[in-house]
Order: sequence, then structure tokens, then C-alpha cells
Amino acid sequence: MVCARLLLCLSAGCLAAGFYPEPAEYFYPEQLLDYKTNDKFLKTENTRISIEEQVEWPPENIFKDIRQVAGVDVDRLGNVHVFHRGDRMWDMRSFKGDNYQQQELGPIQIDTILILDPSSGQVIRSWGKNRFYLPHGLTLDSHENSWVTDVALHQVFKFASNNEEPLLVLGEKFKPGSDRSHFCKPTDVAVSSSGIVFVSDGYCNSRIIAFKPDGTFHGEFGQQDKMNVPHSLSLIEERKCLCVADRENARILCYSLKEDGSLGDLTVNNDVPTGAPYAIVNRGEYMLAVTLSYARDGAAMGITMKLSDGDVINTWHSYEGFSMPHDMAISSNGTFLYVVDVGKFTSKKVFKFEINDVI
Ligand code: ZN
Repeated sequence: MVCARLLLCLSAGCLAAGFYPEPAEYFYPEQLLDYKTNDKFLKTENTRISIEEQVEWPPENIFKDIRQVAGVDVDRLGNVHVFHRGDRMWDMRSFKGDNYQQQELGPIQIDTILILDPSSGQVIRSWGKNRFYLPHGLTLDSHENSWVTDVALHQVFKFASNNEEPLLVLGEKFKPGSDRSHFCKPTDVAVSSSGIVFVSDGYCNSRIIAFKPDGTFHGEFGQQDKMNVPHSLSLIEERKCLCVADRENARILCYSLKEDGSLGDLTVNNDVPTGAPYAIVNRGEYMLAVTLSYARDGAAMGITMKLSDGDVINTWHSYEGFSMPHDMAISSNGTFLYVVDVGKFTSKKVFKFEINDVI
């Protein structure tokens, strides 16, 4: 596998050995990664939920000038918050090694966060201009604070709703690192009800790093499992676990959540047969994921897996098809699912699905 990754890097002009970049410009040769390529993983007889796209949502014009929508979450009212990169893209020019190479562009000058009405898809409010360079993850905590990551800045930000000045900034601007006060292209955030902040870190570190509510270091976890781009987090407090989409290892890992907010044993280690899981969300006994198969010429799809054993009970798609589905979020009642896409092969960037339990 190490050899395959090196070859992949060489063939794709990779920025650093052992590191998989995100841009859609990269082509992943079919033969190099060893994902399962048959469809025997699918156990349709067990399907208990249906996932159906609402193809007219949102209106076409909303995202016509936006190239990559990276992050999404849903607030308590059902409004959809998306984090996008304006006219900017993460491409071959963005980084040299771990360092961002386009500081001279300045921050993105338009609002990078749009809040969409869940029914009409129209923009209710927008904010977040003149601060971010390469937006990545967006998470709303139980107090409706927004947590975002920027892979160019190597930082994590916390914002109260209706305030554009951050309450908390973690990491040092443009300085990648692997100690307690630096990140390297952090990808996602999850916040427990007690305020512990978990950050998946990230494209060039292989850890989950935790902070107390005031931003002081609380611990780092998962290095022993050799994650390769931990890309998305799903905190499931009723099951006392934190799950990680370990993207380039094509697996989902879950760690037990201790009383003090640290992480304990690895309780779930499920291979994802359809490829690299870019994002995960939990719904009851299921984990929903969007995946990209480098072994299938970049075939992207949504899948529903049983959390307990990783069995795939169904796959799902958008009408137009996914290109590089990058993040997903589910409404608090579990009825609506949103997916955002950073790929360049689909004109649609934001997708809405309705989920129904099948009796
Ligand atoms: Zn990403």
C-alpha cells in the first residue's frame, strides 16, 4: 500500500509523499488502490430507510458563481448553513508541502457562509467575508455556535451566531504543525454537550485533538490507528462514541467517549466497500456516508451502513450524480439530509434528500 501511494503521488504530481490532496483535478489511477470492486456488499433485503432527492432544491442561481461548497450543517430550525470557497479552488497551486502558497490572493472577499431556507432554498443570511482562504468544515454546536476549519490557515474558529468576530481561534495562522497549539489542514469539528471540542487533524496529521471549552488542550487520540486523512466526525452521545471517517484508509472508526470527555477504546472499525468516506452522519442504528472510489474511476455515491457491523443496506445517488461529495448533515428530526460537493463534474453543489423509514 505504501508503494501504491508513492506511485499515486508521483503520477499525480503529489505535494507530499503519503498525502492525498483533495482537488478534483487529481486523477486517481484505477489500478493503484485496492478497494473491493464487486457489488456483493449490498444487502438490499435489509433496507429499512429510503433516501430520495428533492431535485428542485435549491434554486439554480444560488450557487452559479461558487466553485466549491465544502461544509454543511443544519441548525435547530432546520436552516441549512453552507461554507464555500467563492471563486477559489483547492488545486495544484494551493500548497507546497503543507504550506499554503496563495496568501497574496488575500482572504475570500465575499460571504463564505450562506444560511438557506430549508423549504425554498433561498439565502436567509450570509456572513464570513474577508477572513477565510480555503474553507473546509462547518459544524454547529448545541448552542448554535458555528465552528469552522480553514485548511490554508491551519486554524479552527468558533463564532457565536450573529457575530462575525470569533469567540475562539485555535491554531496559528498559516503555520502548520503537530503540537498542542498547531494543526495541519484541520478538517472537521465535533462539540459535545459538555463543551469538549474535537478536531480531526487532518490532511497531514493523523489524530483527533480535543480541547476544553475555553480552548485549552484536553488530549489527542487515535495516532495508534494510523488514520490517513481523518476527514469527518460524527459524535453520537447517546451511544457514547465519536466516529471518524478515516478517508484514505476507506474505513469508519468509532472511539468510546469517556465521562471526562476524552476518547477511549476503538469500538467500531468498519471497512467501507465503496471507497473513501468523505463524510459521515449518524441516524439511529445507521451511519450514512458519501464515498468516492478511486478504483472505480472516481465513482461517487451515498451509502447507508449499519453502525454495528458495517453492512451496507443501500446505496443512493443524486439525479445529476455526485462528483466529489465532501460533507453532509442531517436535520435534527432525521428527515432531511444535505450533501455538498467540491467536484467539478457536476453543476450542482448542494443537494437535499428526504429520508423515510420503510415499514
Ligand atoms: Zn476535504
